Amino acid sequence: MLWLAAALIASAPPRRMPPPEVTYTVRVDPTDTSGFDVAIHLRHAPASFELAMYRHPEYDDRYWRYLDGVTVDGAGTRITRADSAVWRVTGAASDVTVRYRLRLPPETGLQRPAWRPFLAPTGGLVDGPHALLYVVGAEDAPARVVLSLPDGWRVATPLRPTADPSSFFASSVAELMDSPILLGRFHDWSFTVDDAPHRVVYWEPPDARPFDTLTFVSHLAGVVREAVALFGRPPYAQYTFLFRDRAWGALEHPDAVTLGAPSADLSADPDAELEETAHEFFHAWNLMRIHPAGYGGVTYRPRPLSTGLWVSEGFTMFYADLLPRRAGLKVGDSTRAAHLERLLGRYYENPVFARFSAERISQSSYAPNPAFLGDYQGSTHLNGEVLGAMLDLLIRARTGGRRSLDDVMRGLAADSAGFTTGSVQRLVARTCGCDVRAFFDRYVRHAGVVDANRYLGLIGLHADTAWVAAVDDSGRAMPDLRVWSYLPPGSSRPAILLGTPFGAWGRAGLHSGDLLESVADSSVTSVAGFRAGLVRLRIGDTVPVVVRRGHQTLTVRVVISGFKHAVVRISRLGTINDGQRRLLAAWEAGATH
Ligand SMILES: [Zn+2]
Repeated sequence: MLWLAAALIASAPPRRMPPPEVTYTVRVDPTDTSGFDVAIHLRHAPASFELAMYRHPEYDDRYWRYLDGVTVDGAGTRITRADSAVWRVTGAASDVTVRYRLRLPPETGLQRPAWRPFLAPTGGLVDGPHALLYVVGAEDAPARVVLSLPDGWRVATPLRPTADPSSFFASSVAELMDSPILLGRFHDWSFTVDDAPHRVVYWEPPDARPFDTLTFVSHLAGVVREAVALFGRPPYAQYTFLFRDRAWGALEHPDAVTLGAPSADLSADPDAELEETAHEFFHAWNLMRIHPAGYGGVTYRPRPLSTGLWVSEGFTMFYADLLPRRAGLKVGDSTRAAHLERLLGRYYENPVFARFSAERISQSSYAPNPAFLGDYQGSTHLNGEVLGAMLDLLIRARTGGRRSLDDVMRGLAADSAGFTTGSVQRLVARTCGCDVRAFFDRYVRHAGVVDANRYLGLIGLHADTAWVAAVDDSGRAMPDLRVWSYLPPGSSRPAILLGTPFGAWGRAGLHSGDLLESVADSSVTSVAGFRAGLVRLRIGDTVPVVVRRGHQTLTVRVVISGFKHAVVRISRLGTINDGQRRLLAAWEAGATH
């Protein structure tokens, strides 16, 4: 995925640079977990060059804020800040070393996102995007990473090992940036699928809860076997699962994944992270190697927003549910029909799909502005999973059960150039031998809500949708608190972020982007403070909300109401023929076709 775009970028600038030899040295002191020291040594460096912090396609954590004491060795050599994420070195000798310390930002809660670096007395995570500046214009240059670690600490990373156990190798900046490094004392397992070694490591602090590691690892191996069986072979030489306690979320890489997996959850259920892990692992193909045209590449600049994530994220959601079932493992929803019921309920109750196309919702997914879709909040994961599920049914029906969405995935994997809406449409049409232009026009290029019954009917199923009052665990109607806030760039006050324009807050006249002054006469100064104030609200309350919109200050009275959920029930059609019965049985079993 990344090397193609990196090659394009590297060939574009007129300024040519013979590749310098780059060595990163990362030094960890377990008695000072406030950060770690980095030295970047360049041999054959040009007299002037730039170092930049890589911008990830999916997030912008702006860790350039936390680089302390950036210096360069050598008399007459200078390093200056050229931009927020860029440093310029001038007057450099052929051999030059830049040093700095990454000061880790303070923990804001018990858990932190799994993709961010951390350091504890018994382990840590170091990665390129947050910590290792790259040489601009030398994106094809290989690099060595030398780790200076406390005694007894080990290393798990997709970086290539060398004869020296503390030294690793990356063939390009893209590879370096996609190779997180887990350090410390951790559990370590491995298994082989189709001759490819898979390593599973789990880091935990000393007070972690024990869990059933045998089940944890063997079920993971089951998912891996199913994904490899779908595509025919693993796309990597080896793969590393980097799990850790005290973290949430996950981030995929071509040959690895970092995952938050709290030991408290795993001790209650060793499969607690199975679907999330299946999702991230499926990304090793879908998004890492099968990717939208123009996605990826090495840059420190803002990236274009992709229109293809409904395939990259949505189809990955589809397989995160399906692969564990194929492996005979239990997943959250008891059956595929139950899974689709829950999915369609969320899909039908969100008005975003009637208002925005799958392409547009895809663009909102990794957009830095949370109000990208105005008063609507879209999920490209949900959108794409519903569209993928419907296309799967269509393909199965049109081919008499001989093909499925699996064939589309294999077709996508054969095209390394990157897909477009048009190329996915052509591939689906070829797979089913049918015309799907109207489907792609209606739901992908334009906004439209899928009528699931059109596709469910092909395999003898029918969905009924009911709107029922949202209630809490004790059966009491819940107040409509479908409103959030965010801190716009440069603003000290949070702004409104509506979940839907048709809820209590939208109906009262509020819009996403309105700057919050006060709620119920209490000044709003933070995102957390706004949310905390909402929990006091009850159905029937009238709340004065003062906002600033442009130069106007407005007082809006929000009448707190209840709200309704869409509840979908799927049942069999009254009359169903043999062909439908066969398709239904294969679909319910999660069969490949
Ligand atoms: Zn994902």
